[in-house]
Amino acid sequence: MGRLSGRSCIVTGAARGIGRAIGEALVSEGADVCFADINGEQVERVAADSHTISNTNGAMVTWAAVDVTDRQQVQDMIGKAVSAFGKLDVKFNNAGVNKPMNFLDVTEDNWNFIMGVNGLGCMIGMQEAAKQMISQGTGGKIVNTASIASRQGFGNVAPYCASKWAVVSLTQSGARDLAPHNITVTGFAPGVVATEMWEQVDQDLMAIGAAERPGQAMEEFSAEILKGRVAKPHDITGTTNFLASKDSDYMTGQIVMIDGGMTLV
Ligand code: NAD
Repeated sequence: MGRLSGRSCIVTGAARGIGRAIGEALVSEGADVCFADINGEQVERVAADSHTISNTNGAMVTWAAVDVTDRQQVQDMIGKAVSAFGKLDVKFNNAGVNKPMNFLDVTEDNWNFIMGVNGLGCMIGMQEAAKQMISQGTGGKIVNTASIASRQGFGNVAPYCASKWAVVSLTQSGARDLAPHNITVTGFAPGVVATEMWEQVDQDLMAIGAAERPGQAMEEFSAEILKGRVAKPHDITGTTNFLASKDSDYMTGQIVMIDGGMTLV
């Protein structure tokens, strides 16, 4: 039996990167996990790989193709998880996108795309998870992925920063509005995490002349990290398992920084 045995969880953005690591860490502790992502083929493979862990500890695993900005698809994803596991205890709203642009060039499309997935997607995910938890009468936990970009504005990613400040606001407002239903809302804010997201970000930064080569932005950030290196996805999962567990039951409305000491304000 793991620390999270019997806990039913959904993780969005779980086809790769931080979301995949969150899901795998939950399964390792015995939780039942629905891996969900807009990339259905990839997330199905990730869930299948997780069976190698779940076969040893009895955790159940399923997957769902979902666009987090589409309420019907979010409802279907929750329905799939509930029919597989019987209930929903913990919902991770982790799916996120970034597309760097010079501030003066930011278009409505760029703004709507980023705010749509990171902001609206988070809110719909919170609402639908909460409705399910309320109907169960069990309470539950909602955990949102924020960012160091929800503490300060960075250059060339204004809509991304705005969207991650929105995640903090949704976490705080949701914590207040859902407390009467015994639902806690927390979040965590990674610093710089080496994931595939950075490959596209590097390309975009080079395209607008904000970087000369791949990896440059990460190197520049590294100089500001007290731990002396950027994070790997599994540097995040001790905290996410804690936020999914009963050990964090008295926390709500808070964002945990996991940034290697990059932001000390
Ligand atoms: P990633 O790009 O590697 O993975 C994101 C996943 O989200 C992908 O599998 C993608 O298919 C999925 N996704 C995108 N749009 C979606 C949608 N509309 N519906 C469902 N799924 C969708 O990114 P990552 O680095 O693993 O980041 C995960 C989260 O962590 C994001 O919210 C990101 O903003 C945040 N974050 C990342 C870093 C970092 O340095 N990598 C730092 C701080 C915060």
